[in-house]
Amino acid sequence: MPLNNKVALVTGAASGIGEQCARKLASLGAAVVIADLNLEHAQKVASSIVVTGGKALALAMDVTSEEAVNSGIEQAVKDFGSIDVLVSNAGIQIVASIEEYAFSDWKKMLSIHLDGAFLTTKAALKHMYAGGKGGSIVYMGSVHSHEASKLKSAYVTAKHGLLGLARVVAKEGGPRGVRANVVCPGYVRTPLVDKQIPEQARALGLSEAEVVKNVMLKETVDSEFTTLDDVANTVAFLAGFESSALTGQSLIVSHGWVMQ
Ligand code: NAD
Repeated sequence: MPLNNKVALVTGAASGIGEQCARKLASLGAAVVIADLNLEHAQKVASSIVVTGGKALALAMDVTSEEAVNSGIEQAVKDFGSIDVLVSNAGIQIVASIEEYAFSDWKKMLSIHLDGAFLTTKAALKHMYAGGKGGSIVYMGSVHSHEASKLKSAYVTAKHGLLGLARVVAKEGGPRGVRANVVCPGYVRTPLVDKQIPEQARALGLSEAEVVKNVMLKETVDSEFTTLDDVANTVAFLAGFESSALTGQSLIVSHGWVMQ
């Protein structure tokens, strides 16, 4: 069990990619903290991990609130003893052209994706440094950390921003044993994407099937969605990687949509 005796906190872990990451990390031996706005769903995920013999704790956490992040991380350390892995994953999507993009939506997007990543990093680093054990931070980027799409100004800006944050954390944290990397998935069928299909269809004047085929999967090598397991396995690989040889990087998991 490569993550035995490790503690992993995953934000946005009550649904979709974050949930699968938490399940995967738990299956590899980590005690997992399911941190999410939606406490009820977080508790269901934590219970189902515990029922199958894992260690899990559900926490209500709004990643845009410094107070909620700090108290959630303190609670996790109190219950499980440390934070060894942070998966900063919580995110939403709001699609609209720039001329129709409400400033309040822009600020909300940047706050959840970037303030959330910064605040959880700052709070987790304190414990990674204090324990002297270091740790691994994985940011949930996107193909949109490297590529642009219409209607996604705030999302593309935020996901590009995570590359910068990860590189700074890699430089500051490296001498103290902390690695930071970004996982960049292509489209994965989660509630976040299911909501977008009709929205993009309306905005682009296409059918929903055309959005899937000609927008979402158009540039992939095989017209396939990336799966939850594809992403969770990549996160687990980065979380458990043994040395600082792999830090400050982004791994694109997108069926070849973007190649670098
Ligand atoms: P999802 O909607 O299934 O899950 C997102 C979770 O984040 C939800 O449980 C929600 O309650 C939580 N959340 C939202 N705002 C929060 C906040 N302020 N504080 C704490 N939790 C909050 O979405 P998903 O598709 O699993 O997306 C997860 C991450 O993966 C996001 O960062 C997203 O940008 C990224 N991503 C998704 C895809 C995809 O195709 N689904 C592709 C690339 C990247």
